[in-house]
Amino acid sequence: MAIAIIGAGMAGLAAGRKLADAGQAVTIFDKSRGLGGRMATRRVDAMAFDHGAQYFTAKGAAFRAVVDGWRAQGHAADWFEGAHVGAPGMTAPARALAQGLDVVTSCQVSDLHRAPDGWTILDKDGPVATPGNGAFAHVVLAVPAPQALPLAASADVAFEAMERAVYAPCWALLLAFAQPTGLPDHAKHERGAISWIARNASKLGRAPQPETLVVHASPDWSRQHLELTPEEAGERLLAHFTELTGVRDRPDYASAHRWRFALVETPAGAPFLFDEDSGLGACGDWCLGPRVEAAFDSGEALAARILAFGR
Ligand SMILES: Cc1cc2nc3c(=O)[nH]c(=O)nc-3n(C[C@H](O)[C@H](O)[C@H](O)COP(=O)(O)OP(=O)(O)OC[C@H]3O[C@@H](n4cnc5c(N)ncnc54)[C@H](O)[C@@H]3O)c2cc1C
Repeated sequence: MAIAIIGAGMAGLAAGRKLADAGQAVTIFDKSRGLGGRMATRRVDAMAFDHGAQYFTAKGAAFRAVVDGWRAQGHAADWFEGAHVGAPGMTAPARALAQGLDVVTSCQVSDLHRAPDGWTILDKDGPVATPGNGAFAHVVLAVPAPQALPLAASADVAFEAMERAVYAPCWALLLAFAQPTGLPDHAKHERGAISWIARNASKLGRAPQPETLVVHASPDWSRQHLELTPEEAGERLLAHFTELTGVRDRPDYASAHRWRFALVETPAGAPFLFDEDSGLGACGDWCLGPRVEAAFDSGEALAARILAFGR
């Protein structure tokens, strides 16, 4: 059975891994150049910033076993109690999961067409996989719900629960200082424009110099300032950072990144969605909650459903 997966984040890769390990032919498509989705590390010259997910927890037995494997193989490390990080960057676990899988990067899927002999996957230039070269019996949407909705609609599938999922955006400010700032390894802030500051270098495998920081704006601030340019958002967040921390040195590097769909505020409340008539499934953190582990669990659960369904 051939299966196409759209999205090479934790959910898509967890689904792909389970399906491939069960002997299915899996092809994963992702619009980015790399793997991991919001488990991301941006590299600028010799600097690295984990500007998406900061760490992950592993509370359930299934994910715990996988994380223990990553830790044993050096793909993940402990940061603080109960909190793990990819090593040497946040994308390392994704690359470990993807080993041996067929992943097509830099491919933004825009449409799905279903015919009796299988699915056709299209990007803006036309088909990237057709029944002739793929004969996909199933397609898995493993992208944030607002991005999955138009893809499901293009296949004439209505997933009502998907419409319930709500994401908060997040502006991330990436800073580097030549001198140590004296800030703690990580700090959460309940009020104000900034919700989180982390010293990237305090994670295993990151270069200690320069001092790289990742600052996350709160959901409220990010929503209110969603349409600023990265330059404007960066300047404003830097002013809030200076006021909050008292660090008055000008950073040697500063840039801002907008995550339009960052953290799930309202999940769909089902581990995955699956349309038996068409063979279209959907998974992701938006099913269960704003965590890497939720994305993993959702992807694995959908893969198990597809394997049980057969076809
Ligand atoms: C700022 C921030 C901080 C976070 N902090 C934490 C944290 O501390 N702990 C934690 O557990 N979680 C955290 N999260 C949440 C965590 O990153 C996510 O829950 C998890 O990574 C989601 O995985 P996913 O596979 O569902 O989606 P994603 O990681 O978003 O993967 C979806 C993939 O689909 C691709 N894609 C989208 N549309 C298309 C298309 N049309 N065609 C092809 N490919 C497409 C994307 O490029 C992406 O690679 C954070 C997220 C952000 C943004």
